[in-house]
Amino acid sequence: MKICRYENAGVVAYGVADPVHGVVREIDGSPFGGVILTGREFTRTGVTMLAPVAPSKIVAIGLNYKDHAFEMGKKIPEEPMMFIKPSSAVNRPGGDIVYPAASKRVDYEAELGVVIGKEARRVMAADARSYILGYTCVNDVTARDLQARDVQYTRAKGFDTFAPIGPWIETDLDPAALFIRCRVNGVLKQDGNTREMGAGPFALVEFVSHVMTLYPGDVIATGTPPGVGSVHPGDVIEVEIEGIGVLSNRVVPH
Ligand code: MG
Repeated sequence: MKICRYENAGVVAYGVADPVHGVVREIDGSPFGGVILTGREFTRTGVTMLAPVAPSKIVAIGLNYKDHAFEMGKKIPEEPMMFIKPSSAVNRPGGDIVYPAASKRVDYEAELGVVIGKEARRVMAADARSYILGYTCVNDVTARDLQARDVQYTRAKGFDTFAPIGPWIETDLDPAALFIRCRVNGVLKQDGNTREMGAGPFALVEFVSHVMTLYPGDVIATGTPPGVGSVHPGDVIEVEIEGIGVLSNRVVPH
């Protein structure tokens, strides 16, 4: 099932996306705790697709793919390295990524997003599956020059529009070995596989939930494979993950 969120005539609702028929089917309330359809459906082009969740926080993992750590001149850390992207950075599928005035180097980072389905506190990896609603695409947009200049990542990773999520949450997916790709203007830039992750989704739910409570809709961005690089205003970034779909966003000037 592909759970999405959309706005229709000023009303925001969750839905189930059916890309084959080009429709979204309205969910009664939220998808957390079970999906009940209202029976209403809309053509997908007739609504505005939003990020599939409104997370209280995005917990992002740095240096979780060996070959990306290597290209950054680092190793995978012994424990996962986490940072927060603020909820204010969330962007929708098709939404513009605003190139900040403060930066001269903005990068894409294609990442698998783990969407939490129920409150998770001190969950063990063996139990993690039941706390996960599903998986989505995340672009961990990064002002690379500011990341290098600042001691930590808050500014570099936290600009408004720097967290595109979507296009939906795939609930029926084994995340163990999925291709994960990034294209800029149609040119392949990243071509990895989730099997190359250091800490996988279940281990990350354990690690993060032993630090902070994860709420329904929170997203863990699980790190990016090698091949990161810069973008410029006018560029279109596509993050594609096998079994999920394509998250596409254009970079625009500030
Ligand atoms: Mg990242």
